[in-house]
Amino acid sequence: MNKMRTSIMMFSAIMIMAAGSLMAAETRTAGAPSTREMNLLCWQEFQELVPARIDTVLVPLGSLEPHGVIPNGTDNLAPEAMARDIAEKTNALIAPTLNYGLTAAMKGFPGAISISEAAYGPFVEDLLGNLADQKFKNIIVLNGHGGNTAILNQVATRVANRSRVRVLVTNWWTIADDLTKSVFKENGGHAGNNETAYIQAFLPAHIHPERYNKDMAQPAAAPGAYIAVPVTSTIILYEKGQGYPTFDPNQAKEYFRKVNDRMADLVLETIRKWDSSGVYN
Ligand SMILES: [Zn+2]
Repeated sequence: MNKMRTSIMMFSAIMIMAAGSLMAAETRTAGAPSTREMNLLCWQEFQELVPARIDTVLVPLGSLEPHGVIPNGTDNLAPEAMARDIAEKTNALIAPTLNYGLTAAMKGFPGAISISEAAYGPFVEDLLGNLADQKFKNIIVLNGHGGNTAILNQVATRVANRSRVRVLVTNWWTIADDLTKSVFKENGGHAGNNETAYIQAFLPAHIHPERYNKDMAQPAAAPGAYIAVPVTSTIILYEKGQGYPTFDPNQAKEYFRKVNDRMADLVLETIRKWDSSGVYN
C-alpha cells in the first residue's frame, strides 16, 4: 500500500469514527439519560435534563437499625431498590439515599445509629428545599422507616408551601398493606414476611434464615399500652400470630414486583392529579 493511499484510508477511518461518536452523543442527548442517579450525573447533563426533560425526583430516606435476620440498612436498601426500579416508568431522577433516620427505641442494638429529631428535621428540610431550588417540580419522598414519617410530613408541608413545589411523602409498607395480605395471606410486620421478602427479592445473599427463630418476633403493643426501650424484639408483627418471615424466594419476587408497580402507579397518578388541578404547573 502506498503512503498516500494509507493516509487517505486513515483519514477516512478517523472521519467515520468521529461521525460515529457524534451520532452516539446525539442519541444520548435525544434519548435516555446516561443514568438516572444524581450521584452519577455530571452537572452538564443534569442541566440538560432538569427541568426540561425530567422534573420529578425520587428521594429514598431510611434508617440504620436492626431488622430480624435481614440487613440493618433494610430501610435504606428497600426505597433505594424501589427508586431504581420505578425511575424510568415515572421519568424521574434518583437523589442519593439518606441512610440515617430516627430510631431512638432501637438505638441500643448492635450497629444501630439514631439521629435526633432536632438535627434530622432541619437537615431533611434543607435537602428537599435544595431539590426545589434545582427546579424539580415533583419531589417524591420514598420513606423506608416508620420512625421518620411524622417529621417528614411536617417538613414536606413546609417545603411545598415555601418553595411552591409539589411534595409527596410515601410509606410503602402501608401503601402495600392489601398486597401484603394477598401475597402472604396474612398481615405483615417490621422485619416480618413483607419487609424480609422485599429485601430477599434483590439481596438474597444478605438474608439469614439460619439465624432465625420464631421467638425473635412479637406482636406490636397496642397504641398507648406500653413502651420498652430498647425494644424487646426487632421483628414486630402488626397483628398477633401473623407476619412471621417466610423466606420464600417466589413470594419475594412476586411481592417486590407488585409493590413497585403499586408505587409507580401512585407517583404517576399523583402527578397527573397535580397537573390537572393546575397547582404549581
Ligand atoms: Zn424496616
